[in-house]
Amino acid sequence: MDEKLAQDRIKKLRQEIEQYNREYYEQDNPTVTDYTYDMLMRELEQLESAFPKFAKEDSPTKYVGGAPSRTFEKVPHTVQMMSLQDVFSYEEMDAFVKRCQEKLHEPTFVVEPKIDGLSVSLEYKNGIFVRGSTRGDGFVGEDVTENLKTIRNIPLKLQNAPAFLEVRGEVYMPHNSFASLVKQQEQNGETPAKNPRNAAAGSLRQKNAAVTAQRNLDIWIFNVQQIEGKRLDSHTQSLEYLQSLGFPTVIPHSCTCITPAQIREQIELIGKKRKNYTYDTDGVVVKVNSFAQREEMGTTSKFPKWAAAFKFPPEEKETVLRKILLSVGRTGVITPVAVFDPIQLAGTEVSRATLHNQDFISERDIRIGDTILVRKAGEIIPEVLRVLAHGDHSHPYILPNECPECHTKAVRDMDESALRCPNPDCPAQLMKRMIHFVSKDAMNIEGLGPQILTALQEQGLLHSVSDLYQITQEQLLELERFAKKSAENLVQAITQSKGNSLDRLIYALGIRGIGVRAAKLLCKRFPDMDKLLNATVEEIQNIDGFGGVMAENVVTSLHDPHMQKLITHLKEAGCNMTYQGTTVEDRRFSGMTFVLTGTLPTMKRSEAKELILRYDGKVSGSVSKNTTYVVAGEEAGSKLDKAVALGIPVLSEEEFRKKIQERNDIE
Ligand code: NAD
Repeated sequence: MDEKLAQDRIKKLRQEIEQYNREYYEQDNPTVTDYTYDMLMRELEQLESAFPKFAKEDSPTKYVGGAPSRTFEKVPHTVQMMSLQDVFSYEEMDAFVKRCQEKLHEPTFVVEPKIDGLSVSLEYKNGIFVRGSTRGDGFVGEDVTENLKTIRNIPLKLQNAPAFLEVRGEVYMPHNSFASLVKQQEQNGETPAKNPRNAAAGSLRQKNAAVTAQRNLDIWIFNVQQIEGKRLDSHTQSLEYLQSLGFPTVIPHSCTCITPAQIREQIELIGKKRKNYTYDTDGVVVKVNSFAQREEMGTTSKFPKWAAAFKFPPEEKETVLRKILLSVGRTGVITPVAVFDPIQLAGTEVSRATLHNQDFISERDIRIGDTILVRKAGEIIPEVLRVLAHGDHSHPYILPNECPECHTKAVRDMDESALRCPNPDCPAQLMKRMIHFVSKDAMNIEGLGPQILTALQEQGLLHSVSDLYQITQEQLLELERFAKKSAENLVQAITQSKGNSLDRLIYALGIRGIGVRAAKLLCKRFPDMDKLLNATVEEIQNIDGFGGVMAENVVTSLHDPHMQKLITHLKEAGCNMTYQGTTVEDRRFSGMTFVLTGTLPTMKRSEAKELILRYDGKVSGSVSKNTTYVVAGEEAGSKLDKAVALGIPVLSEEEFRKKIQERNDIE
């Protein structure tokens, strides 16, 4: 490549990488895969080393991460939080090992999984957790102490601790937490998180620690950054020490190796095992064990020369796109779905993936008949990465300009790339709304699933959600697979749902952005439907946890003529329109946070939780200094230990019952 071309390419690569850095580190919203990013970075590194005159100190190859956000206090890192040099093949790993062996006397290496999360520092003074921060640009991070305190595995107090200790770890979102977050976001009509790494970063960098607490994050500690009053000579020794202090460490998955062959074997082993891990890993880290030898190897401005990360190639598979289906959601959004030849990915067979919207399809020029590359984001959600080759006679795919179900002219939202069917009577939307309406967290009508609803709709019995309450046993008996008893049961379940508390009904109506919790908060403030219908945006916005957009959505949705008609019909059908929980006037446990742990002698956890919520208390999954009481039963584990360590009052079931009784006596 000639100099001019190299210079132009370097400039272009830097701009592109800087843009991806901002999206990834500052906005927690990457638009390209890690592999694509890594390949661009590699190209830039190679060009800068071939043309050193164009290398610059402020090139992304020389620094890590992104700028700390202004939302948080800044934390200067006394010990720089560095990145790792990446290798993408065994040959490159061998070369790294050789470099170390040439410089050091018989080095031992520690091999451990590379957890895909975000790096944090935790500081302890005399054993008390005093500050936690993100990596930021490696020199200055963001103070996320309160948010970190909600992670149950982070010890808040250490026994036999040194005078000062700073450790480094990786905060991650386990697969089950990621799956429930995505489900919840979809239910609330929000854009689902892209992958567990970005979900973890977004969850930790929240203004409100209560939101972080709900996300069920976890942590692995993998390094001692600073320590006073204790001497540590090697990585293995420090990991054992960290474990003895109560930190979760990578010890169960790490091992020491000497030769490149052993390292290779270990990488392969972790590569196989990682499919069963309950969190994402994106590689294997190989580190020199001895701290003295690490000193000898030294660092660059960006990473230590004594460690290297072997990055796993993403599991991607080729397949052929056979058709694009259009799915109409309950709010009318028309989503194109790719249907391709089935492939095995991360242990399961997949044959469908969302194509999101027209922009996604056009940017990648995805056409029916194309050979496409598919992978699973966070080992869970299949996604189409790109087109490998267009099919013969293929032509660009354009979404139809009408609803595929009711043929109403579709509209494109001004502020979103989504195409929407504006017809509230659209049968596809109605079906999705019905499925949501009867679901467990909504009206909870047992025995009424998508199949029966579809059959009822096909019989012409469902034109609106409220028609559900007109269904008779005789009508059900006409459907296949209904006998007298099952028809009777279903009608009874439908009738019973009329008595549900208003918050269930509000959630069941499917207002955008209003999940189970928001519906409850609304009802606490406006405990009957008429009060809620008269509420203004300002009044709703005043509810703790509500923003302007959410408040606006509630008012607009409730005043939509179709919604008003539906509410009237539901009222006429005899649905309860009042809230049966405690209202804001009844705040016995207001401001108190309870943590439930262990098995209570007679009370189920859900019952205890219900009682706490009824009296306006909060239930948290983890103990922190903000916890008011821990209610502990048999086999209570680390939460109880943490409560004792923090001096938080612990109640038995009996004491908890007494507390409610006492309070009732005072009333
Ligand atoms: P990195 O994520 O590749 O490696 C360094 C990090 O690994 C450390 O910060 C540490 O926290 C973590 N780590 C996990 N387990 C570890 C262990 N056992 N021992 C030591 N460290 C461990 O490097 P980076 O600088 O944090 O980020 C760069 C990477 O981020 C890129 O390679 C790319 O994969 C991704 N990225 C993607 C985009 C995008 O747009 N998709 C943009 C920027 C960065």
